[in-house]
Amino acid sequence: MTGKLGSFAHISELYVSNYLKKPTIKGQSTLIHLLDHLEEDALKTLTKNCGQPTYRAAQLRQWVVASRAGGFDEMSNLPKKFREELTKQTQLWTSQVVKHTQAEDGTEKILLQLADGGQIECVLLRDGHRITICISTQVGCAMGCVFCASGLDGVDRNLTTGEIIEQMLLLQRLLPEDQRLSHIVVMGMGEPLANIDSLLPALDFACSPDGLGIGARRITISTVGLPTAIDKLSEINARYNLAVSLHAPNDELRNEIVPINKNIGIDQILTASDHYFEVSGRQLTFEYVLLYKVNDRPEHARQLAQLLKNRQAMLNVIPYNPVEGLPYKTPSNNAQHDFRRILEDAGITVKFRHRKGDKINAACGQLRRSNSGLVQLEEPEVPESSD
Ligand code: SF4
Repeated sequence: MTGKLGSFAHISELYVSNYLKKPTIKGQSTLIHLLDHLEEDALKTLTKNCGQPTYRAAQLRQWVVASRAGGFDEMSNLPKKFREELTKQTQLWTSQVVKHTQAEDGTEKILLQLADGGQIECVLLRDGHRITICISTQVGCAMGCVFCASGLDGVDRNLTTGEIIEQMLLLQRLLPEDQRLSHIVVMGMGEPLANIDSLLPALDFACSPDGLGIGARRITISTVGLPTAIDKLSEINARYNLAVSLHAPNDELRNEIVPINKNIGIDQILTASDHYFEVSGRQLTFEYVLLYKVNDRPEHARQLAQLLKNRQAMLNVIPYNPVEGLPYKTPSNNAQHDFRRILEDAGITVKFRHRKGDKINAACGQLRRSNSGLVQLEEPEVPESSD
């Protein structure tokens, strides 16, 4: 428990809850990660390799996904021989839950240790019937946003598709049997579009009726704005919501706050985003972390309004959640109010996001890869949809 957490007696911190007991780390195992092979053909091949008829593949999938099995031993209608073979050839889980934190508002965060020792976090947020998970895509992050705990130590590696799906399934296991996940935001540790090749198959799984059955309109990919990758997404799979983190209304300031911007520039990001909007028809979301005396001045709001005024977009403003060890602060209520008023007067659709999970360091900018505390993450407001 961090020093910050220690001051909140009503928050319980569970080290490996009953829900999450099952994953057993197998170190640098050469076993196949089953969650990397959940597509129909791959699972049938694996089933055949275990000496079983291919119809068993659907049963196996049912156990892993719908029945939320914690291990092969629970899969009671699979022949013992099949389960033994699965144990010999594959591993269901490659990570270990090293910490599970719960807040009073229902937010839960789990810290996972990966097979190679890397650590990531993922979060479950509850809001009435809406149950959203926020997942990570990389160990660390290379984008270097100055206010963000995730990027403090750079990036180690991309997560595999199986490791991304594993977060979804572990978080799903936190729910009672009669509840299911309704939304996904890809805004945990890492820049999702820097790992697009692993991410998209994981999101296909999330959308599939044989997978989590979550409509694409309920999935949001949050990016710092990598134009080439946004173009790729426009080309191959423009069905998800896109949230672009701007954090500054001009390149000079953005170069300071989001250093990767020096190689890109706001114009290119907006061009790629506009193209995504044309192809997908999805209203864009822009994110803006409001930092005290850095990007919270009236002139910043006016410049931002200028940038967004002719776009069909929603602006999410996130008053900064302080991160231990970083010098940034939350803007005053007056500064927040003035910032909002200027944007609204200019006709911009603005939402100030509430800070779910901040008491367990699960809010935007507060996830990081050590269990000492603090990455950036919060459920974004995106246009509601019916699917
Ligand atoms: S805010 Fe996002 S893109 Fe920026 S360093 Fe953190 S995780 Fe990376």
